[in-house]
Amino acid sequence: MQRHGGCLCGQIRYSVSTEPRVHYCHCAMCRRATGSAYAVLCWVDRTAVSWAGAAPAMRRSSPLASRSFCDECGTPIALLYDGSAEIALHGGTFDDPNTFRPTYNYGGNRRLDWVCDGMDLPDYPITERW
Ligand SMILES: [Zn+2]
Ligand SMILES: [Zn+2]
Repeated sequence: MQRHGGCLCGQIRYSVSTEPRVHYCHCAMCRRATGSAYAVLCWVDRTAVSWAGAAPAMRRSSPLASRSFCDECGTPIALLYDGSAEIALHGGTFDDPNTFRPTYNYGGNRRLDWVCDGMDLPDYPITERW
């Protein structure tokens, strides 16, 4: 199934040719980077993503990773760990996020007290350190 997505203003458009591995991320970095209570990360191989139009802007967000965004409207687009073959697209940027489901939590012990999404899903501890 081919999925499509993009930013709020439409400058960034992408399509994904493989099935994403989707999870909730409750880490403080994703919380700040998205400005939301948690991130919904959709992991695919970098080669499975085709970009149409402008390439997303990229900034280093930690010693381990960079994050891409639309430099026109500011929409956060993706998380990329250094040296990884994968890219994590933000779930809310897909045109139809109902075509996939988060299947686990990452860092559930840091879930905000008032967040109740994904409580029934498996949980894995955060392993990134620097
Ligand atoms: Zn935009
Ligand atoms: Zn995270």
